[in-house]
Amino acid sequence: MRIPLPKVRELIEAVRAVVKGPFTTQFPKKVDSVHPNFRGILKFREEKCICCGACVQVCPTDAREIIVDQEKGVRRNIHHADRCIYCAQCVLFCPTEAIYHTPEFDLSRTERGGWDTTVEKELVYCEICGEPFATKAQLLWIAHKVGDLVNSNPTLFLTLYQSLGVALPQEPPFGALPYRSGTMRILCPDCRRKTYMTEEWGY
Ligand code: SF4
Ligand code: SF4
Repeated sequence: MRIPLPKVRELIEAVRAVVKGPFTTQFPKKVDSVHPNFRGILKFREEKCICCGACVQVCPTDAREIIVDQEKGVRRNIHHADRCIYCAQCVLFCPTEAIYHTPEFDLSRTERGGWDTTVEKELVYCEICGEPFATKAQLLWIAHKVGDLVNSNPTLFLTLYQSLGVALPQEPPFGALPYRSGTMRILCPDCRRKTYMTEEWGY
């Protein structure tokens, strides 16, 4: 039987591997570093997330979810990592840079689950209809973003001033208010519009 001779290229590679070491790594014993732009598992910068829900809107695989938990008074943002395809749309569209890719790529497990990450932010309720319409963090973020223009929107400046301790929270009437009595309140966009547009209205 004739033993085939190794090709020249394979011989060169074999010699190179003896000198420089093998091309492959001994994963998982030895973990290689990855490219800086590598899209590994996603994490939240919890302090930056305002629970606005923009990431949920752009996620193509429903890997992100917003839940309004009225019992706890919070809006919850959940990342279901087992549904994530690492497309980075949420990273791109998050207005506060609250999501980032880690270089972590070793995600194999024997059980599904256990990967979810969650952020919770305090809800703000409309003082007329009583419905939650935003998070406090979201309103404060907008208030800082618009600068002096904050004074044109009572919902924004009242939230801001209350957080600074220079305005006191009002007792919510939870019912329709006539124009003027209703304007200087924290209101959802719908009640704000009705308050400005209609003298007297009710639900
Ligand atoms: S701040 Fe960013 S991470 Fe938080 S809900 Fe909005 S888009 Fe998602
Ligand atoms: S990386 Fe893509 S799939 Fe994963 S949570 Fe973000 S938008 Fe959804």
